[in-house]
Amino acid sequence: MKQENIRNFCIIAHIDHGKSTLADRLLEYTQTVSGRNMQAQVLDNMDLERERGITIKSHAIQMTFHFEGEDYTLNLIDTPGHVDFSYEVSRSIMACEGALLIVDSSQGIEAQTISNLYLAIGNDLEIIPVLNKIDLPHSMPEEVSDEIIDLIGCEREEIIPASGKEGTGVDKILEAIIKKVPPPKGDKEKELQALIFDSEFNPFRGVEVIFRVVNGTINKGDKVKFMATGKEYLADEIGVLKLDQEPRKMIEAGDVGYLISGIKQAKEVKVGDTITHVNKPSESPIAGFEDVKPMVFAGIYPVETSEFEDLREAMEKLQLNDAALVWEPETSAALGFGFRCGFLGMLHMEIIQERLEREFDMTVITTVPSVQFKAHLKKGEPVDVQAPAEMPEPITIDHVEEPFVKAQIITKSDFVGPVISLCIDKRGILKNQNYLTSDRVEMTFELPLAEIVFDFFDRLKTISRGYASLDYELIGFQQSNMVKLDILLNGEKVDALSAIVHRDKAYDWGKRLCEKLRELLPRQMFEIAIQAAIGAKIIARETVKAMRKNVTAKCYGGDITRKRKLLEKQKKGKKRMRQVGRVEIPQEAFMAVLKLD
Ligand code: GDP
Ligand code: MG
Repeated sequence: MKQENIRNFCIIAHIDHGKSTLADRLLEYTQTVSGRNMQAQVLDNMDLERERGITIKSHAIQMTFHFEGEDYTLNLIDTPGHVDFSYEVSRSIMACEGALLIVDSSQGIEAQTISNLYLAIGNDLEIIPVLNKIDLPHSMPEEVSDEIIDLIGCEREEIIPASGKEGTGVDKILEAIIKKVPPPKGDKEKELQALIFDSEFNPFRGVEVIFRVVNGTINKGDKVKFMATGKEYLADEIGVLKLDQEPRKMIEAGDVGYLISGIKQAKEVKVGDTITHVNKPSESPIAGFEDVKPMVFAGIYPVETSEFEDLREAMEKLQLNDAALVWEPETSAALGFGFRCGFLGMLHMEIIQERLEREFDMTVITTVPSVQFKAHLKKGEPVDVQAPAEMPEPITIDHVEEPFVKAQIITKSDFVGPVISLCIDKRGILKNQNYLTSDRVEMTFELPLAEIVFDFFDRLKTISRGYASLDYELIGFQQSNMVKLDILLNGEKVDALSAIVHRDKAYDWGKRLCEKLRELLPRQMFEIAIQAAIGAKIIARETVKAMRKNVTAKCYGGDITRKRKLLEKQKKGKKRMRQVGRVEIPQEAFMAVLKLD
């Protein structure tokens, strides 16, 4: 394929504005996927993605399209829209020259429309605006076009009206991709530089590396080197990504492909690394990606302590597939050996937990999530605190800083009041307010990250009846009056239940957390005292009464199958429990702090 006939583009949008559905139509129109293999959101091939109806990972696929007497290769990358996964978007963007910016014509511009657009503009991508879902009766093409023109400064005629559902506008979109997106610039005669922008672990074939050749040519059988790790491999198999992998003899500058070379160790591949030739290496790697910054930290522990090594292996494999996941071993007095993990947000954390269980058959407990604090000591270097257990003794601390974010909220003007109250309750400050139309407002707040990563978005949705979107970015650390709140069960501190909270909220938290734990801890043959403490000072207390009789007694001693069923049920319920001292703690207890209001 001639380089001037290659187009690399991604699809960006706010969540649910129809990226994956439009991708389906492009694949059909170009006959990349035929009738028999077609299913809705065909690129969302992970079970979890299909069930939840969301895109979690970016997906690359190659299409061939005949246009005005020429054959074109179009490499499409579908991207996730949720704020937790903007890192996936930024990687995809680096492998493209153009972006389809999709806006739902019944919703208008939302928070991730703007943040993803800025990522694309920052990388000099050609933007093709698409007004989607025009089939909907409550579609507002005029108003939403005004918003788009206002946002990107394009002409009205440049906006392509489309319906991913009905296939309207697909021909216009393909034409615009060919006419407006520039072909890749690289030189295929130069030394090889291929950017790794994704990777996947296949249990049978080892690590599959997804790359974009920026300069040079890679051939099957070449001896290649990954520049950051210095490791050398034989390119056993290279090829392009259609619905399935299609092996090729060579891949030239400008194109996207995959590489399989029997890499067994997940750690060996670093997304953002550059592949070059061993014999004729490039002098420098491609300027890579920024390292991912995890926002939320939590411990992950096996329910069965004997499964620690299995869990380590699972984490290594998962990390290969998810460059945003970071982790290191950790020990908890209560839970034993496990891992401290960094996540992009709560959805990311939930997904990691679910993938560990589904794809690796692990049963795990995750501990109370926390953001990273900085403790400045009276003497010595400041300490990064990613878990409450790492907080130094109060007496040694001079002051504590916590991370703050700039948050963009877009909502209907009716909900401005409630949104501001919510943000103030969360220790936020309103910085700016901007009317997108007479009826829709964009507000900017500064907020502590700790107040928004957990249940903020759910509350925002509730108070705005669904009409609010949120995007945020870290802006740095600021001093805050934080304290460590400990939980004691029968007088024993359970480190995995500690949390770091603002002093003004600590008493209230302690009280409500004890109440919540009283509901969640199963009754046992003895009484359980639940206490909340700041340092040595007890600030709240609740009691779980002892159970008087054996549970099976409920079955009147008669029906044996019923008895067995009950025991079975108990056993299942036990799966996600950890014994700490004599007390059994269910998974929900570790998440209780997130559901206090
Ligand atoms: P994504 O999150 O941007 O990938 O969005 P999806 O493609 O998963 O679509 C979100 C929802 O909108 C799904 O329920 C789709 O069926 C629906 N949808 C997508 N495109 C259209 C469209 O053009 N018209 C209508 N009426 N619904 C659409
Ligand atoms: Mg999608």
